[in-house]
Amino acid sequence: MPLIAKRLQAVRPSETKAMTAKAAALREKGIDVIALSQGEPDFDTPEAIRNAGIAAIRNGRTRYTPVAGVKPLREAIRGKLLRDNSLDYDIDQITVGCGAKQVVFNALFASLDPGDEVIIPTPCWVSYPDMVRLAGGEPVLVAGHEHFGFKLKPEDLEAAITPRTKWLMLNSPNNPTGAVYSKADLAKLAEVLRKHKQVHVLADDIYEKLVYGVPFATMAEVAPDLIDRVLTVNGVSKSSAMTGWRLGYGAGPKDLIKAMNTIEGQTSSHTSSISQYAAIEAVGGDQDYIADFVSSFAKRRDLVVEKINEAYGLKCRTPDGAFYVFVNCTGVIGKITPQRALIENDMDFAMYLLEHFGVAVVPGSGFMASPYIRLSYAAAIEDLQRACGRILAACEALS
Ligand code: PLP
Repeated sequence: MPLIAKRLQAVRPSETKAMTAKAAALREKGIDVIALSQGEPDFDTPEAIRNAGIAAIRNGRTRYTPVAGVKPLREAIRGKLLRDNSLDYDIDQITVGCGAKQVVFNALFASLDPGDEVIIPTPCWVSYPDMVRLAGGEPVLVAGHEHFGFKLKPEDLEAAITPRTKWLMLNSPNNPTGAVYSKADLAKLAEVLRKHKQVHVLADDIYEKLVYGVPFATMAEVAPDLIDRVLTVNGVSKSSAMTGWRLGYGAGPKDLIKAMNTIEGQTSSHTSSISQYAAIEAVGGDQDYIADFVSSFAKRRDLVVEKINEAYGLKCRTPDGAFYVFVNCTGVIGKITPQRALIENDMDFAMYLLEHFGVAVVPGSGFMASPYIRLSYAAAIEDLQRACGRILAACEALS
């Protein structure tokens, strides 16, 4: 009898983490690799938040906490949702987990029975389809078109809904495309959802604060009549440069939150008490540093978009949010490398960039969209300049 469970057979390890690990292995061998593969701000956690974490340790906030998170944190999250999103939740409609990732997983695990379907607009975050499978559901991938900004069209949503559809996953700003759904976009999707009461919406707002000149909108705010069918997920990883602290949260219907807390209570119990106290500052304290993050990311985005569009065979749109550029690499497919290898797909191209030019990117296949590569511009501007120079040279060298 094999040790590993059958349900893991259809689950892939995260391609983002795999490329980052390959880049780290090459670096260990002394090779100069620029990693644009990781979805992580390169800023330090702002000082006030770090100090809140230190104070939590000094004040002995180091014991088990309630599963849903300490009350002052849930109150701070309640305040944030009211302040930023005009959403008025009770604190027992709010749960805190080990990153937005765990919150998404808990929601799926709490709600999916075998055969239940989850609509995932693609390109999508690498983890969604695998999380759905792990939770026993069926991912239903619906392709977004590049000319429509990679966003889900209402008619495609309508066509994908069946009586077994339990969730629609919406991620805006989007990883990997940087697409941002406007209020009007969400209102049109809401019109479709009103007709299908079995469908719930998981709004993954983790990149909320990283928008460049366009407003952020979220489903529960745009369609308040659907609020009992929406789980709003967010966290501090991306907006407050706190990826390692592992703190995310969800707000939604009480019965769902209660079920998610049951799962959390029987698995991790809760995220770190220290992270929870630091997050009170991140969510409720001074938010001024976010404007600095955004202006710094916007400069880097503009640099990368300009350079990539100069490269032979590559083209990309200017994304409105997050910190990724999703590059169409149709023009390099079928080309031959100086090593006489054929570039058959985006994985081949990503490996060519990594092995011969020392630039780590993630192939679009990981995000259910080919042929593309995703570049994260959450890296130092000098590294981005060097990486773009290498990518241009790599494309030039193809025949
Ligand atoms: N959701 C999306 C779309 C992401 O891209 C990520 C991280 O890359 C997460 C959630 C996970 O966030 P956290 O670090 O809070 O678990």
